Amino acid sequence: MGTGIGFIFAAVVLVAMTVVFIGLYVRYRGKRLVTCPETHLPVSTEINAALAAGTWIAAQPRFVVTACSRWPERAGCDQACAPQIEAAPEETLVRNVVARWYAQHACSYCARPIHEIGGVVVPALLAPDGELREWKDIAAEDLPRILEHSVAVCATCELVEDFRRRFPNRVIDRPDTAPRKPSAELVRGIGEPSQALY
Ligand SMILES: [Zn+2]
Repeated sequence: MGTGIGFIFAAVVLVAMTVVFIGLYVRYRGKRLVTCPETHLPVSTEINAALAAGTWIAAQPRFVVTACSRWPERAGCDQACAPQIEAAPEETLVRNVVARWYAQHACSYCARPIHEIGGVVVPALLAPDGELREWKDIAAEDLPRILEHSVAVCATCELVEDFRRRFPNRVIDRPDTAPRKPSAELVRGIGEPSQALY
């Protein structure tokens, strides 16, 4: 009888630990934005999520960088950025950096707030030169600079605008449809495209 209860207890502990491990693994995986202590510039990194989750359960989580946008040239560096990840495991995740930015920037076309940054069609960024790009197409290490100089475009407006640009003759604007240009108020501050001729 005693061994039976002991077995059940061990099984429950094992299941609980597995659930905790999976939760931590999901939390730790993914691309991260940190500042390289050597260049003081943003870099995109990834850590060994399974190791961090496993060592969290055992005692103290260990954060080992397994990928960096400065590698392979700087492979074998001293991983001096790891403490940034340890100090802010949530805030350094690229998906959270992007979600935070969109939460603060409504769509520049329809003015609706942008809550969802994943999915088949993701929100885009409109640069001062008029270039429209989905945030997922931008290298993570370039995101801080590009976010600073762009305005937000929701996934729906991104689709419409992309279609308009590809097939300009098929789109007819009616006065009662959404405005075709980003509202001047939201774009203000990112500057007009250069009119200079070279
Ligand atoms: Zn929109």
